[in-house]
Amino acid sequence: MIIRDLFDRLLDLFFPDRCVACGRMGSLLCAHCRAGLRPYPPEAPPAGLDGMAVGWLYEGAIRTAIHRMKYTGMRRVAVPLGDLLAEHLQAAPLPADALMAVPLHAGRLAERGFNQSEELANRLAHRCGLPLVPGLARCRDTGHQASLGRRARKGNVEGAFVWAVHVAPPARVLIVDDVLTTGATLAACADALRGAGTREVRAVALARSLAPGQKMIQS
Ligand SMILES: [Zn+2]
Repeated sequence: MIIRDLFDRLLDLFFPDRCVACGRMGSLLCAHCRAGLRPYPPEAPPAGLDGMAVGWLYEGAIRTAIHRMKYTGMRRVAVPLGDLLAEHLQAAPLPADALMAVPLHAGRLAERGFNQSEELANRLAHRCGLPLVPGLARCRDTGHQASLGRRARKGNVEGAFVWAVHVAPPARVLIVDDVLTTGATLAACADALRGAGTREVRAVALARSLAPGQKMIQS
């Protein structure tokens, strides 16, 4: 595994544009892999949000690309992933005055070196022309949400975010996330923003797993 990782890193060094999912040369996420992504079925936004758009099922090439970005420090994968988000929003726009990224706690940020949601939001801002506004902060380290059940996740993130600057936040905010799970984190972000004066909070995420029993129905 270590040798494979080293080999991958060497290849990345000499051949920077190799598809992270299938290895094809030419781009970080090739057209073949992009074409194979399955769209996430439309559904109502989680409680606390005025709207939500999720691009794709969290599987296959997009799952691999997100993992490469988050867990092997491959920051530049955020560019093709941000482009995918932009294309998704162009097809199904959500009203917004500004973008915000789900903040990482300072400890996690120091560990990873960058905030993947902010990287995605940066690219999306560049593509769609909306400003990426700072000010939302995580005031509590909520640990690894992935290891918790739905109810525990909600309790774990409640009150974990604050609007940390003295200027009022924009009236309509679109929060950018990489992988949506229960929506508890986004709802907690929305709470903090509404408390500071935001009227409408929507979210866009790259991918989400289907809930157990949820069917793949396209409308
Ligand atoms: Zn590929």
